[in-house]
Amino acid sequence: DILKLQLCIFLLFVNVIVYDFAPESLRGAKVLVTGSSKGIGEQMAYHYARFGAKIVITARSKDTLQKVVEKCLSLGAQEAFYIAADMSNESDLDRVVDFALKKLGGLDYLVLNHIGSTRIAMWDGDVEHAKWLMKINFFSYIQMAWKALPSLEKNKGSLVIVSSLAGKMPSPLTAPYVSTKSALNGFFGSLRHELAMKKSNVSISVCTLGLIDTETAMSKVKGKVNMPAYPATEAALNIIITGATRQPELFYPWFTYIWTLTKDWIPSFTDYVVQRSYNYSP
Ligand code: NDP
Repeated sequence: DILKLQLCIFLLFVNVIVYDFAPESLRGAKVLVTGSSKGIGEQMAYHYARFGAKIVITARSKDTLQKVVEKCLSLGAQEAFYIAADMSNESDLDRVVDFALKKLGGLDYLVLNHIGSTRIAMWDGDVEHAKWLMKINFFSYIQMAWKALPSLEKNKGSLVIVSSLAGKMPSPLTAPYVSTKSALNGFFGSLRHELAMKKSNVSISVCTLGLIDTETAMSKVKGKVNMPAYPATEAALNIIITGATRQPELFYPWFTYIWTLTKDWIPSFTDYVVQRSYNYSP
């Protein structure tokens, strides 16, 4: 485990040096992070705060958001606000972006990170759940991104999409979740082409994460999945650096990239390893 951690820290340094990350660039940056009451989103809020950014955080639970905002201010955020919203509710989506634009006077970063809750279980035909999840994990992302785009364009800003290895390589027991992440990768990959063709100022970073040790993820995978989990705070920092350096993609931890290659190069071996990572007996 120590070796893995050392490797991750080394790669973080490589990232910082190769992509020339300038922490000062985030001082005063206007940032909206979704799904930021807990997990990776909460850690991103704290990192942005340490860099002296101005941030708006959002999730459903008002009490938790309030505590995160207080901590952000104590860590050095120039400004920090919260807005409680449910991403399954269409009218909340524009309301959140409008709130951030008004409070911060524009946006430099829109970091889309929230997800709806889903089970780790065999697909049971619950199409209504898949539709509901698609609404939160996908449709809300494209609506909010579109709403924020004019301000991001004006500020040479960045759209940061928190995705998953599941969006590059299907895994079992999470079919609805895999679908939402694949849709994000497809949509924002396409939008990146369009922005480049329009010579837009806005960069899009799609972040591919492996298993991360958030409370939600750990409680869901317990007893079901055999794979290492990596620290949320480090995942959060990598996402922020990827956005700030306008890189198109992040793979964290690094070996998630290897999986995206082996799935095409040696598919049957990859399928074997993936299926063996889950505890399931028919
Ligand atoms: P968490 O479950 O820890 O946090 C999810 C956040 O989304 C919370 O702030 C939650 O707050 C908010 N949220 C949930 N439902 C809604 C809703 N309907 N409307 C608005 N906000 C909502 O997730 P993680 O930190 O583990 O994951 C963050 C991102 O990282 C996700 O995009 C996930 O797919 C990705 N990822 C995570 C991995 C992991 O192993 N942890 C692996 C790969 C990718 P509240 O409940 O108060 O609304």
